[in-house]
Amino acid sequence: MTSPLSLFDSHLHTPLCGHATGTPREYARAALDAGLAGICFTDHMPMPAWYDAPWRMRLDQLAEYVDTVREVQAEFAGRLTVRLGLEADFHPGTERFVERVLKAYPWDYVIGSVHYLGAWGFDNPEFVAEYEDRDLGELYRHYYALVEGAARSGLFDSIGHLDLPKKFGHRHPDASAALRALDVIAAADLALDFNTAGWRKPVAEAYPAPELTRAAAARGISFVLGSDAHAPGEVGFRFTDALGQIQAAGGQVVTYAGRVRHA
Ligand code: ZN
Ligand code: FE
Ligand code: FE
Ligand code: ZN
Repeated sequence: MTSPLSLFDSHLHTPLCGHATGTPREYARAALDAGLAGICFTDHMPMPAWYDAPWRMRLDQLAEYVDTVREVQAEFAGRLTVRLGLEADFHPGTERFVERVLKAYPWDYVIGSVHYLGAWGFDNPEFVAEYEDRDLGELYRHYYALVEGAARSGLFDSIGHLDLPKKFGHRHPDASAALRALDVIAAADLALDFNTAGWRKPVAEAYPAPELTRAAAARGISFVLGSDAHAPGEVGFRFTDALGQIQAAGGQVVTYAGRVRHA
């Protein structure tokens, strides 16, 4: 498939996080085969040792990550643009650690994601039973308050998978907390990770939902396309559908290079 548009997939993982398969070279090859113009690796960034350690690279692996991406960059030069990014976690108290990691290398693009409510990794299938003990309204208010914190932190270029707590089907009909968070995201001039992985999950809906995509576009927030691939076969996953949803909402697609937004 060749695409008439110059699309980038800006949310890709690597095996360094411990839960992805395929080499970075294979992800780049898959992107070329899918007709993409470029990719940005955004593997799970190192965090303090006590935080979610089995699901991310260690700090002492960061140089290896950067070197590997640079090797792929050189190998595919002239055929595919390859950029260096991170999917960072926003977890109150860890901001200084994150800031140090972000200063250590010249990143192209940094996603800020909320994966934890307190000690609960709410997007981990192992802990999905916890939803039964939670009030969904409270859960979503807590989650979006953290998203607002991420947006205000000044550390990130975009917010990852905006409405992630819906992953296993726990949709919240009241969008007011999400809309308040979108106001904060717009004021902070961040983009949204338009994340097609939701179409591979029980909720069977991309992040953000169509309604929130429209609300974001109405606030002038732009979108960065990402498959959140954890295997080469997922690179560019359902990007035609993603474009359709974004364009129907009146939204704009952007990419980041050197942490600067490009239309
Ligand atoms: Zn992951
Ligand atoms: Fe994530
Ligand atoms: Fe991811
Ligand atoms: Zn992610």
